[in-house]
Amino acid sequence: MAIATINPTTGETLATFEPHDAAEVERRIGEAQAAHLVLKATTYAQRAEWMVAAAAVLEAEVEATARMLTLEMGKPLAQARAEVLKCAKNMRFYAEHAEGFLADEVLDDPASVGASHAHTRYEPLGVVLAVMPWNYPLWQVVRFAAPALMAGNTGLLKHASNVPQAALYLDALFERGGFPKGSFRTLLIGAREVAHVLEDPRVKAVTLTGSEPAGRSVASTAGSHIKKAVLELGGSDPFIVMPSADLDAASTIAVKARVGNNGQSCIAAKRFIVHAEVYDEFVGLFASKMAALVVGDPLDPTTDVGPLATEAGRDELAGLVDDAVARGAMVLAGGSAPDRPGWFYSPTLIVGLADDARLVMEEAFGPVATLYRVADREEAVRVANQTTFGLSSAVWTTNADEEAWFIRSIDAGAVFVNGMTVSYPELPFGGIKDSGYGRELAAAGIREFCNLKTVWKG
Ligand code: NDP
Repeated sequence: MAIATINPTTGETLATFEPHDAAEVERRIGEAQAAHLVLKATTYAQRAEWMVAAAAVLEAEVEATARMLTLEMGKPLAQARAEVLKCAKNMRFYAEHAEGFLADEVLDDPASVGASHAHTRYEPLGVVLAVMPWNYPLWQVVRFAAPALMAGNTGLLKHASNVPQAALYLDALFERGGFPKGSFRTLLIGAREVAHVLEDPRVKAVTLTGSEPAGRSVASTAGSHIKKAVLELGGSDPFIVMPSADLDAASTIAVKARVGNNGQSCIAAKRFIVHAEVYDEFVGLFASKMAALVVGDPLDPTTDVGPLATEAGRDELAGLVDDAVARGAMVLAGGSAPDRPGWFYSPTLIVGLADDARLVMEEAFGPVATLYRVADREEAVRVANQTTFGLSSAVWTTNADEEAWFIRSIDAGAVFVNGMTVSYPELPFGGIKDSGYGRELAAAGIREFCNLKTVWKG
């Protein structure tokens, strides 16, 4: 795949970039390694000062940066602005909390292990490779980079080939805040070069957000070299609506949870599982709200849904819908690509999926919602858990017993009750099953790329 910015709204190529050659990749790995040796000798206070300064750079440049994101991958401008500011928030969060999250822990009763004293300490691992996707071109990266750098690690970024301008912006951002040269380096390389970088002995670990095949490939390389990996591989999150729910609020949030970021989010609600008692009413509300969305140029402030980021992504989504329809599913809204330039797909609602429709098991990475009518909470959980994914989930109920039962029964990394899944710096984020392993954000996220060292004194 060429490394290029292609505006998804028009299909026009705006800029192309020469990939880094082997010598440049080698130089950049060397810089990241040298920067780690500098960084690990600095204090938390020093790193926090640099991190806050980098956050201030982001905040000062929010307008230009948001526009760059929208032109590269098509998200509505207001959502691009929100993404930039969320990154700054995460950077400030880790600047404030990293030292506390990684504080030494002293064993209360050292005699129990035959010691006069024992404690644990967190130490950085070194250079960490980040393989990242295009859907949140800044957020996915900063979610990793802010805790990694605060812990004293350095980062190498292999970003998706369709967001090179975001990748180069991130290459400079942390140094502009004051971090030592090489603390965070972008590698303009194709997917095929990733294994070579990960095999390098100076690279200690890898984090990947993206598709299952990319995750399997990178995890195998990491495994064969005994290197730590964190994988965030998408999902097909259920959104369950029970009779006690506020249906108007649930249907409004259902639309937001499905079409935010033009439907291209790993934690988007994708499968809507509705109790038979309220199914018709909920579907009526949901369908009319989906049909009312404004699809258009993501730079236009009245637009709700822009184009998909790539032509291949749009074709893949259209293929999933066509397959479902060919197997007897009914389209209640949308169901096709509008006749206009760019990689648009109309917000779509589908019911009556045959068991063998690809949409039952596969992730719909675009504004396509599927609906399931269920008789009771047991059936709701059976449908919720039937995919191979297990990232997040949402449940709408005001019945306390039912709420507790869903929290226990859903196989996922998170359950959001009477709301939609959102990632927050303060809460751990990650999945189970084929959605991957490891956690990002909160205390768990910063500890993933640290050596938890045990100290024992006789
Ligand atoms: P990919 O997984 O192909 O891309 C994500 C990143 O991984 C990119 O940087 C890509 O580089 C890199 N990559 C791809 N294959 C390999 C490999 N074998 N070894 C190492 N690195 C690799 O996602 P796509 O953009 O192709 O999207 C396909 C599907 O993946 C989507 O429809 C969606 O289902 C899922 N996805 C999930 C995301 C999430 O947030 N969890 C984000 C994006 C996609 P390059 O761009 O150069 O190919």
